[in-house]
Amino acid sequence: MSASGADSSGTPLPGPGPVDPAGAAAVLRAAREVLVVGHVRPDADAAGSAIAIATALRRTGVAATVSFGGPDPVPAALGTLDPDGLVVPSSRAPVAPELLVSCDVSSAQRLGDLADRLDTAGGSLAIDHHASFSGFATRHLVDPAAPATVLLVRAVLAELGAELDAVLARALFAGLYTDTGGFRWGGSGALRLGAELVDAGADPRALMRELTGTRPFGWLAAQAAVLAGARREPAAAGGAGLVWAAVDVPTATRFRDQTATVVGQLLATAGDGVAALLTESEPHQWSVSLRGNGSPDLSRVASALGGGGHAAAAGFERAGTRDELLALLRSELDAATT
Ligand code: 5GP
Ligand code: MN
Repeated sequence: MSASGADSSGTPLPGPGPVDPAGAAAVLRAAREVLVVGHVRPDADAAGSAIAIATALRRTGVAATVSFGGPDPVPAALGTLDPDGLVVPSSRAPVAPELLVSCDVSSAQRLGDLADRLDTAGGSLAIDHHASFSGFATRHLVDPAAPATVLLVRAVLAELGAELDAVLARALFAGLYTDTGGFRWGGSGALRLGAELVDAGADPRALMRELTGTRPFGWLAAQAAVLAGARREPAAAGGAGLVWAAVDVPTATRFRDQTATVVGQLLATAGDGVAALLTESEPHQWSVSLRGNGSPDLSRVASALGGGGHAAAAGFERAGTRDELLALLRSELDAATT
């Protein structure tokens, strides 16, 4: 960032700590080389936010690159959000960028193997909507009331004077649609932004078909096997109940990009209770997705187990056997309901 502590228009840069969208835009305008990242195993909110920021910066002549901490490759469907090829594997991400911008990342650990950039970058800016945001960046635009990080990104793009075209609109719409559960929550503000993005060139039907609407045929049998193994525990979560299922290593490896929607299917059968999908990504390495109805607070449950998230959608990663993880989960769910 410029040594004068001002951006190119002469606006003074905000100090370290919380910033508003105008402050975030000033930080972005002051940098000439930016690495924009989302959390590991990015969803559409993380990927759409990062690609939108980088796209807008590139248009102002800034060298902006997008990357996500490995080891996993970016889900293939997210490529549709990146027509200009801004995403590079983490092994090729700039080692000491002038500015690191993180989108939808609640803690340094969620940067994966790009967490070292917090030390090597000239400065960092986090844009996030997790109540569990840890404060890891030099400057942060964080609003837990925002239903998706893309809403905060939209406000920053407005401050940058970026014109919404189809590339930006598609990236933002993907995150908005996904993180609001298809506009189930987020209220009229999300719907208004959705309308603005559709007017700017996001075609919801085509976009969602590309992101989640096409699957390999073999997934039908694999999904049937996962769902057939689902178990219901009516006494769990203080009597609200738990429905869980597990994905084994071969299925997780072969259908890496397909499993995200399963936890929603479990939740639909859980009444007022909680759903959990336990995915064994490597032997004895688990990634757990939790979904609920807001109570108990699943971000509290996930945080206690080393993860984080929101009240109704959270997750954590942990080593152990399936039954060890289930025992921990039952005990934290009970703790959160008493
Ligand atoms: P998902 O189940 O879709 O992967 O994640 C649901 C929510 O929980 C998202 O807000 C996501 O950022 C958060 N989350 C999922 N896994 C983890 C994790 O391992 N650590 C943290 N801190 N948050 C997670
Ligand atoms: Mn998000």
